[in-house]
Amino acid sequence: MSQAQIIDGKIYAEKLRSEVAAEVAVLKETHGLQPGLAVILVGEDAASQVYVRSKGEKSLEAGMHSVTHRLPQAATQEEILALIQALNADPKIHGILLQLPLPKGLDEKPLITAIDPEKDVDGLHVVNAGRLAQGVAGLVPCTPLGCMILLRETLGELSGKRAVVVGRSILVGRPIAQLLLQADCTVTIAHSRTRDLAEVCREADILVAAVGRPRLIQADWIKPGAAVIDVGVNRVPFDNPEKAAQGKTKLVGDVDYKAAQKVAGWITPVPGGVGLMTVACLLQNTLIAAKRQHGLEA
Ligand code: NAP
Repeated sequence: MSQAQIIDGKIYAEKLRSEVAAEVAVLKETHGLQPGLAVILVGEDAASQVYVRSKGEKSLEAGMHSVTHRLPQAATQEEILALIQALNADPKIHGILLQLPLPKGLDEKPLITAIDPEKDVDGLHVVNAGRLAQGVAGLVPCTPLGCMILLRETLGELSGKRAVVVGRSILVGRPIAQLLLQADCTVTIAHSRTRDLAEVCREADILVAAVGRPRLIQADWIKPGAAVIDVGVNRVPFDNPEKAAQGKTKLVGDVDYKAAQKVAGWITPVPGGVGLMTVACLLQNTLIAAKRQHGLEA
């Protein structure tokens, strides 16, 4: 039985980061402009701390100005709002990212809305979501952007392909579906109320799983030869009972990877697939935002 080609996110993420770094160097040289990224982390969430550290390190490596604002768990809505407003007004900052999820009791929606849409490098502001829906240039959420780069790099032309996106969140499912539509795919969005999900998935030349349910997508849900993009990041106990008994956990995606590999044509691993693209796309968005804010073509 043939094995799927593994889409190695590391290779494409490194390539994109080095392209961004090269452009940052040119921008500094020719326009004296250094793209600046500000990341806001509220509270102590362990996974968020890891993501934020990586965003800070990678933006510095790309030659950007990078600031991380760490606010305590007890930070108020007003304090975060005041920080966002200060960053909106800071000419050294071209991209602002509010790391989600926020601690309980805080409301993320008005905070995201407070970010200047031109600095909204996470692409979550309603203005950028609207631009994406209308196919107008804006800032596109990083993970969906990363998925599209992986698909284009591996499949080339996407026009006419049947795409199924499982998940309809504002962060992942919806923007991926919009981008696939823009690429002239025929797109179905599935979700928790979809009837006969397996049958819907079997139609897909491109199957994107953005659900957050470990190994939901089974091998026999996949059309032979399909490209499978697994966005899911789920922490589960080890299969090995000894390790599981020690409370050790590992990361898995939304796709039953081992079995799916025998059916799919291409597949992203978890970890090592989509996740690595997210930070690279954040850097790209910061570069684009900096150029646009200075009237340069992005
Ligand atoms: P989310 O906001 O919880 O959305 C999950 C979506 O999956 C919802 O639309 C939900 O449907 C749907 N769903 C839930 N159970 C389902 C089922 N049994 N069958 C079909 N659909 C089902 O999650 P998210 O923010 O989109 O994230 C999805 C996954 O991607 C998570 O594992 C997250 O950790 C991961 N993620 C990874 C990255 C990365 O960089 N790799 C970035 C972001 C997120 P309803 O709308 O009907 O409830």
